[in-house]
Amino acid sequence: MRMLPARGRSQSIEREQAKAPVPPNGSSSFHSKRDAHSGFRDFCRRLSTAILCAAVFPAILPAAQKPLEIFFIDVEGGQSTLFVTPAGQSLLIDTGWGYNGFRDANRIVAAAKLAHIKKIDYVVITHYHADHVGGVPQLVQKMPVGTFVDHGPDRETSKQSQTLYSEYQAAIAGSNHILAKPGEQIPIKGMDVVIVSADGNVIEHALPGAGDPNGNCASVQQKATDPSENARSVGLVITFGKLRIVDLGDLTWQKELKLVCPDNKLGRADIFVVSHHGLALSNSPALVHALAPKVAIMNNGSKKGADPAAWDVIKSSPGLLDFWQLHFADAGGSEHNTSDPFIANVTEADTGYYLKVTANEDGSFEIYNPRNKFTKQYPAIGALGTPTTKAR
Ligand SMILES: [Zn+2]
Repeated sequence: MRMLPARGRSQSIEREQAKAPVPPNGSSSFHSKRDAHSGFRDFCRRLSTAILCAAVFPAILPAAQKPLEIFFIDVEGGQSTLFVTPAGQSLLIDTGWGYNGFRDANRIVAAAKLAHIKKIDYVVITHYHADHVGGVPQLVQKMPVGTFVDHGPDRETSKQSQTLYSEYQAAIAGSNHILAKPGEQIPIKGMDVVIVSADGNVIEHALPGAGDPNGNCASVQQKATDPSENARSVGLVITFGKLRIVDLGDLTWQKELKLVCPDNKLGRADIFVVSHHGLALSNSPALVHALAPKVAIMNNGSKKGADPAAWDVIKSSPGLLDFWQLHFADAGGSEHNTSDPFIANVTEADTGYYLKVTANEDGSFEIYNPRNKFTKQYPAIGALGTPTTKAR
């Protein structure tokens, strides 16, 4: 059933369509005597020039042709990434920090408002560190959440960690819950979300289309086993049409190698959400260069993440077009930081700008920086032309 309130149109049109009856065949067309546009839509249906009609009246586009929207919310060096599908469903990966006067919860709510949603259908908690799970108690006071997804019990025993976990448990009591297991999917409508790591375990078999031998494994450094919650991060591969996005939370080096060595079980990525805020405990060349992303987006803070060693790995990845950052990172200087248009927040002031990806099923997408109104468009693989930029 595709008839769901669409986004990106006027409130009056949205209200009107929300009242319209659902056609029995589940098509995305709308019928209502109250709808002054119905005659025009009928005309459009009869007319074979669907492109013209879609341009004049985009509401008749089926859900599959609407874009996927992704908001990389600034939570000052934590993670909070909101996906809103063409079907109107939503997935939030992590909730930022708590104990900051609803700062991060308010930013999530603001992004949800921009996406015209009033509820978050799925919240994935990658692991139980304060910059990921800390914001849950405040978020649930601000917005309803359908289902929480996590890797199961907290595996750290420090008092701080146990406190965070018990506050999380109290906040989600009464909500639906999914225990994340590698190989399983989160049942959101409008995109495919496969869990590739959880609680220290990873997928046994390559994802469809993946599994090629990874030439980056032979020379990769081995690091000590990480006993922390980071290594238990829920990692996701998200597919929307031809577009692939990889987000592994704070998954650390040795677990990355289990995913991509000796064979790359993940395949390639169009968009790589830089792991662990850009720390060098993660982001091995065996992972990043095998994913070979078109763009990398780093959810760092001005003084959090963004390790120059990890930066160098990502910037040397084959085929990388651009590196986007949520913050100018003090440690990197001009030598490592990307150029100004690609950075959401350039000062240490708490400006809270997000980055927004708008993606299409053909694999094309654009990234928008609301601070400077800079947008860059990335064509689909195989499409003619090169990435273009524009100001708006
Ligand atoms: Zn983190």
